[in-house]
Amino acid sequence: MREQIEILASLQNADREIKEKSGAKGELLAEIEKREEEVQAKNAELATVRAEWAEKDKLRQEKEQLLQEESRKVTDKRMRMNRIKSIKELQALQREIDQTKLGNAQLEEELIKLMEELEACAASLGAKEEELKKLEDAWRERRGEIEAQVAGIDRAVADASAVRQSIATQLNGELIGRYELIFSRRGGMAVVAVSEGICQGCFMNIPPQLWNEIIKSEKLILCPSCHRILYYKPPVPSDRQL
Ligand SMILES: [Zn+2]
Repeated sequence: MREQIEILASLQNADREIKEKSGAKGELLAEIEKREEEVQAKNAELATVRAEWAEKDKLRQEKEQLLQEESRKVTDKRMRMNRIKSIKELQALQREIDQTKLGNAQLEEELIKLMEELEACAASLGAKEEELKKLEDAWRERRGEIEAQVAGIDRAVADASAVRQSIATQLNGELIGRYELIFSRRGGMAVVAVSEGICQGCFMNIPPQLWNEIIKSEKLILCPSCHRILYYKPPVPSDRQL
């Protein structure tokens, strides 16, 4: 049993590496998603401001055209005045001209206000384009790094998986099944050493009777408190003791 558990411990090393690398890859993939969402959101903001600008500009064109037409009317009416002899008709025409000029002054004011709004819109558009460019530049650079890291992780995981597979062939299938269940339930730690009577998984004391059985290594023994697979690890002599 001792040999099987030692092999199981090296299987666990491979599994821990795979788990750790997969976690790191998950974080990188989440970063890709987050950054791409940021770029998309900025693009959407830009599209909104662009649409706002286009709408205002269309309104400006319409008002400018109207102003031109109305100004032409004033000119026409002035020319007509030269041909009119009746005072009454002249007065009526003058009133019409005054009315149109009043309307045109109003139109001009609206146009000025629109131009100011267009200018503010254009400034905001420029600022947002700048922000988008910065985001995209930074992201392009970071994306290259992330892709290289992900490729490195994929290679390391493939290597560790191959190692795991070759280790697994040396183990009893039922033992692997039990191990895998504990591995997933106990946060990627299923096989732990007992050092000086203490489980290194949960740091609880192992009862002396169980401790003796662990040292004998005749059967599979689980920690009574954390239910991990226990194995005996003789104390390593430190330099001081030598
Ligand atoms: Zn334990």
